[in-house]
Amino acid sequence: MLRALLLAPPGAGKGTQGERLADIYEVPHLSTGELLRAEIADRSPLGLEVEQYLDSGELVPDELLAPLLLQRAEGPEPLSGFVLDGFPRTPAQAHLAHEWGVETGLTFNAVISLEVPAEELIERLVRRGGETSRSDDTIETIRLRQQIYAESTEPLLEYYRERGILIAVDGTGTVDQVTDRITSRLDELDLN
Ligand code: ADP
Repeated sequence: MLRALLLAPPGAGKGTQGERLADIYEVPHLSTGELLRAEIADRSPLGLEVEQYLDSGELVPDELLAPLLLQRAEGPEPLSGFVLDGFPRTPAQAHLAHEWGVETGLTFNAVISLEVPAEELIERLVRRGGETSRSDDTIETIRLRQQIYAESTEPLLEYYRERGILIAVDGTGTVDQVTDRITSRLDELDLN
């Protein structure tokens, strides 16, 4: 059963690949960004509180995000496998994820990093900002999200590499090519 984390900078394709991997490995796809955007679209109390963070590109405080994630993870259909996208993205969240994982027997068995050159990331995000309604795909917000990624999230790659579960793949080329690269690496693993 796949219990994967997608760890990559904004614009690298976490959402797209996450959905495909969830289909292929028959596990749910959980995206913190999507969960948060759904709360905002619903105008729920939590949505109203987190909106300012998403719009500015800042991280949502853990005390707002954690209950939302737990609710999804422990909800009517408890998880056994998953493709998680967007959490953890700080060392403190990685610590929390590890504690939950040990408690529930759901520690990650693969952490997938998508490698895409910085210029291409900006291009993809600016294009997405023009095509979709994501309010955080503006140049200033993109810069802040990239900076937060570099400072807070990227260091997690080393943490998972040391634990022997990091799979780093080239995230350029077609969507199919990237999916194939990931699945061929995952299929080498013993996903217990
Ligand atoms: P991207 O990775 O392209 O920036 P996401 O959809 O993953 O986009 O996240 C969008 C926004 O949602 C982030 O900028 C942040 O405000 C919020 N968010 C998502 N995941 C987390 C998290 N784990 N911790 C704090 N904030 C988060």
